[in-house]
Amino acid sequence: MQEIRVFADYHTHTVYSHGRGSVRENIEAAINAGLEKIGIADHGYRHLGFGVRYENFDKMRNEIEKLKPEYREIDILLGVEANILDIEGRIDVDEHIRGLVDYVMAGYHFGSMPTHIVRGSINHALNYIKPLNHLSREYNTRALVNAMRRNDIFIISHPGAKASINLEKVAEAAIETSTALEINSSHGHLSLEELLRIKDTGVSFAIGSDAHRPQDVGNFTDALQRVEKAGIAHQQIINSRR
Ligand SMILES: [Zn+2]
Ligand SMILES: [Zn+2]
Repeated sequence: MQEIRVFADYHTHTVYSHGRGSVRENIEAAINAGLEKIGIADHGYRHLGFGVRYENFDKMRNEIEKLKPEYREIDILLGVEANILDIEGRIDVDEHIRGLVDYVMAGYHFGSMPTHIVRGSINHALNYIKPLNHLSREYNTRALVNAMRRNDIFIISHPGAKASINLEKVAEAAIETSTALEINSSHGHLSLEELLRIKDTGVSFAIGSDAHRPQDVGNFTDALQRVEKAGIAHQQIINSRR
């Protein structure tokens, strides 16, 4: 039995979007959990309700720079969980935000404001209504694939959650663009069944807590159970080692 140790949590939320904790609280929780790196990745600004206010990205960068000298035992990174906005793969990260963050995650969320209001809203609706999910699979898949080709994305968050996709095609594009697919500990995706389908493609995975409270930072229990059942080796997971 291999013992997998996750050394970084790149997917944590704070009060800047809809998390409960402050940046400082997430950092302290990560240190207590024994992590070597903590990433703050709040929602992109086109997420209605949850998104970080555009001007707050500067504030977050400054806050992190101020906290770094106090917490030298851990690497503190600023990321963003961007929204995939359309079938062309646009995301809500512009040059300014790109210059402020250390990495970009991207995922599909219902609450994002699409670039093309009508087409995008129809697609949100199809994804929301379970019996109609298959009608939006092609759109969702192309949006994800194009997002990876068009942008430098570190990790695709919770692929398959909230939107039906052709996972094999997404994995192929992830390999081509050196993007990791997330095994999200809160959302159940990638699921065990999904992991089994694509693990032999050689695609890279990243484990994320998707913590919305400091006490969940570094909690990878659910993801690790799927990893173990799927028989995935630590070498295939970018933030784990033995
Ligand atoms: Zn998300
Ligand atoms: Zn998230």
